[in-house]
Amino acid sequence: HGSVVIEDLRKEFDDVTAVDGLSLEIEAEEFLTLLGPSGCGKSTTLRLISGLETATSGTIKINGEDVTDIPANKRNTSMVFQEWALFPHMTVQENIAFGLEMRDVPKAEREERIEHALELIELPGYQDRKVSQLSGGQKQRIAMARSIVLEPDVLLFDEPLSSLDRSLRQTMQIELKNMQEELGITFIYVTHDQEEALTMSNRVAVMNDGHLEQVGETYELYEHPQSEFVANFVGETNFFTGVVSEIDVKTLVIDAEEGDIRVESEKTDQLSVGDSVHLTVRPEDIEIADSLDTPNRWECTIGDVVYKGSFIQYDVDVGDRTFLVEQQMRKTTTPRERGDSVDVGFSVEAGEVILDR
Ligand code: ADP
Repeated sequence: HGSVVIEDLRKEFDDVTAVDGLSLEIEAEEFLTLLGPSGCGKSTTLRLISGLETATSGTIKINGEDVTDIPANKRNTSMVFQEWALFPHMTVQENIAFGLEMRDVPKAEREERIEHALELIELPGYQDRKVSQLSGGQKQRIAMARSIVLEPDVLLFDEPLSSLDRSLRQTMQIELKNMQEELGITFIYVTHDQEEALTMSNRVAVMNDGHLEQVGETYELYEHPQSEFVANFVGETNFFTGVVSEIDVKTLVIDAEEGDIRVESEKTDQLSVGDSVHLTVRPEDIEIADSLDTPNRWECTIGDVVYKGSFIQYDVDVGDRTFLVEQQMRKTTTPRERGDSVDVGFSVEAGEVILDR
């Protein structure tokens, strides 16, 4: 239960195209996050799935059934909002019962379902507490319970944790992930925070300007980004741009401003000599050493040094370019200092080739 299939979905508001030809398949019982910068159409997509907005064109199927023109209350989805939208002067019981009363669920069944939901969110016996007397994290869980009791196939979350402080947010991220596994309900979760997306999801769909950039498992997005946008938005990276000058089976040479860069890639069969390409190399895949044994190496000067505890971040100057490099730290590692002259470089396997589209 709980598959969602979106095909060529569009939503226009007057002169704004909020969702611009989005296609995406969400499997039953998965935790999928919609990730992207503010204004890219995440919330609108979620509201279209829930039925709070109607599509300009395209289709949405839930459990194989076309629901595009079906009203929100008949869709078997439920939305958990950021502001919790709880009634502060009412009790936990009254707050959770609200949606059940709207659906004419009889009193005895209501009470049973609420009891069960409170056990699930680990606040058993909280029925008679006033919402105004609960902590931020407890309110968030009550908001969840209010959606869970409706027994939807799909739970929709619109940045529900963004108003919580950092440590509570991290706790709730883990709790939500565990709860999703326990409930076996499809979760679709909207966030602009890539760390949050990577922490919780099975898969992440990266959106940009109303369309889907890439969808995949979290490590796939990080290690194999297929566009400059994804490489930049999911983690930090270094880009090299150039023209393919040699192709030999799985190896290619990129004639870049920084010099010839030799890389191994699965994409050689999609490339010809003369094509423009980008290469992204993550900061932790660039090495710093007194001498390096790779064709891709440069003499450099260490610039800014930022100590982060388990690793150090360096700005490394190579000619008029600056590379971002991360070095894992152990107690016995000696950090480099500003002004040090060393080699930086990366192996032929370290980068990901991005085709120029
Ligand atoms: P996100 O959730 O990624 O921040 P939204 O889906 O909220 O993005 O918005 C996408 C675009 O659609 C934005 O440009 C936003 O201003 C616009 N938009 C969203 N809702 C409405 C609305 N009800 N009326 C007009 N424009 C809207």
